[in-house]
Amino acid sequence: MSFTDSLRGYAYAVHKRDGFKCRYCGLDGSDQYENWIRLSLDHLLPKGHPNRDNPDFTVTSCMFCTTADNWFFQNAEKRGLTFEGMTPEQLVEQRKPFVLKVREAYFEFWRENVATSSVP
Ligand SMILES: [Zn+2]
Repeated sequence: MSFTDSLRGYAYAVHKRDGFKCRYCGLDGSDQYENWIRLSLDHLLPKGHPNRDNPDFTVTSCMFCTTADNWFFQNAEKRGLTFEGMTPEQLVEQRKPFVLKVREAYFEFWRENVATSSVP
C-alpha cells in the first residue's frame, strides 16, 4: 500500500507548489503536522469548465477555506463574477474576500460563544 497515493497523492504536487500553505488564510502545513492534515484542494473554476481539474487551476486550501463560501460558484453571476480569461492568481484574489469574510464571521462567533478566556 502506498500512502502517498492514497492520502496526499495528486494533492501533494499542488501543495508543494504552494509551499504547503493555504492560499486563503495562510495556514502552514510545513510548520505542524496538525496543519498539514487540514490541507485540501480548492478548484478555481466551476464544474463543467474544461480547465477545472487542471492542476494549474487548483490551489492549496485548508478544509475550512475550501468550504467556507460553499455557494461561491452558484452565487458568481449574482455577484457579477466571471472566470474566463483569468489567471489562477487573479482567480484566487477574486475568491479570497468571500472566504475571509466567512472566516471573520466564524471568528466573531468563536470569540463570543466558544472561547473560554477573554480574547481582545
Ligand atoms: Zn485556509
